[in-house]
This record gives sequence, C-alpha cells and structure tokens, in this order.
Amino acid sequence: MPGLLFADASSTLDDSDFAIFGVPFDGTSSFRSGTAQAPERIREASHNFETFKFEHGEDMESIRYCDLGDLEGFKNVDLMMQGVEAFSSDLVRKNKFPIALGGEHSISPAIVKSFEDIGVISLDAHLDFRNEYEGEKNSHACSTRRISDSVGVEGVVPIGVRSMSKEESKDAEELGLRFISSYAFQKNPNMKETVERALKWMGRERIYLTLDMDVFDPAYAPGISNPEPFGLEPIEIKRCINHLSDRLVGFDVVEVSPPFDNGNTSALAARLVREVIMAVWKAQM
Ligand code: MN
Ligand code: MN
Repeated sequence: MPGLLFADASSTLDDSDFAIFGVPFDGTSSFRSGTAQAPERIREASHNFETFKFEHGEDMESIRYCDLGDLEGFKNVDLMMQGVEAFSSDLVRKNKFPIALGGEHSISPAIVKSFEDIGVISLDAHLDFRNEYEGEKNSHACSTRRISDSVGVEGVVPIGVRSMSKEESKDAEELGLRFISSYAFQKNPNMKETVERALKWMGRERIYLTLDMDVFDPAYAPGISNPEPFGLEPIEIKRCINHLSDRLVGFDVVEVSPPFDNGNTSALAARLVREVIMAVWKAQM
C-alpha cells in the first residue's frame, strides 16, 4: 500500500464502485523517463481539491471508491502486461470501475484486454500506431496498435493527434484506423460533436477512455515524457469525460513525468480522475 491514498478513497474494495490503482512502470520510455514517479505525485496532488464539485452539485465524499496501491516490481514489459491484465480482470469481474494511474502508455492495452465488447477512445498527441518500436511490440509508442489487436482497428479512435511517423500514417490508412487530429479539432472545436463522431465510427455501447497527458498543450501539462506543441486545452478533456460519462467502463491516465513537472501536470491528472469518478457516478450509479 502507498503511504498516501488518493483523496477521499476511503471505502473498502467490496464497498466500492470505483477502484484506483497505480502502475509505476516506465520500462519502454523512449525520450525522457520518470513516469514511474507519477502515481505517487498524482495521489499527492489529489488532496489539493475540494470534495464538493459545485458544477455537479455533488460531493466526492458521497461516492464509494478505493485506492488499492501500486502494482510494481515487474521485471519487463511482458510481465507487467500479464500482471496488470490479471489484476484489472479481477476488478471487472467484481463489477468495479477500474482507474489506473500510470506509468507509461504501455499499461493501457493490458487493461483494455480485461474487457469484452468495448470501444476505446485514446486522448493522445501521438498516434501510437507503430507495430513495434525499437524492437518492442509492447512499447508505449505502440499503445493504439496493441489496443486495436484486442478491440479491432475499428474499435479504437485516437483524438488530439498531431504526431506520427510516415509508416504509421500509411498503416492507419491501409488498416482503416480513424482518428481526429488536434488540427481537425481546432478547426471545429466542439467536443460533443467530436465524441459523437468517434462513437458513431466505433458503433460500441461501452467505452474505455485512456488519457495520455501529452494530448494537452505542453503549456498546460509540461511534465510529460514527449512534449508536443499545438495541443488541447484542459476544459475540452473535462467536456469529453462528461459527454462519455454514461457509457464509460474504465479509465487510465498515463505519461505524467514528475521530474519535468512544475506540479500542474499531476494536479490536472488528479483533477481529471476526480472528474471521471464524479461524472460516471452521477450518470451510472
Ligand atoms: Mn501515448
Ligand atoms: Mn503521447
């Protein structure tokens, strides 16, 4: 168990609707590392916020959720994926809504595998559609590709993209991966329409949301592994969560890198975890 739990996570697992866990894994990071420190920093930042969410008219203290601590000590990415999938599958079987604090984006495909019959929205500056990166198929640079292995290429839609290799671009076209770039969004900055378009493409009732913190403009979220200019504003991702709240089945936030953070990135991550809990609880529980 961590020294500090996520704020207001005061229920037992049995009593909880939501279960938070950390995966401080950064074994495949390609540019600058440090995401292993993120779960602890996000938990610390979570205590910064009021329990009352006035815009929802509800209090976080009314919601039953727990923080199960960190899954750690994995010797390589394959063992991490096995461990995370098994852990997440157990939560899903128990009808708990999993919320993972990364770690890097390589953790998300493992959580997605614990569900059946879902679609996935990936909020990310990067397409993450390489079949392998530096010889590693489970690299954080391949998260969309590995997710598509389990939900189908038509079952995942990245939003906020503004970086990809020529090969990824070609693969996306050939395999039929649809995405909404940051530029397309800025041209018509309507998150509700954007989400509806992604849902229509996927045709899935239940949605898993993965939030790579580099989807934000680096001005808002400087503490990340691979900063990429021309990103989204935080309020847009809050809107995205609210539009999806009645159909979300799980959530993760990845790629916060505390060594490069001034505190704002982990605060934003923590606040959006709280937004997911509040919005999904209001819509579904
Ligand atoms: Mn990513
Ligand atoms: Mn990214």
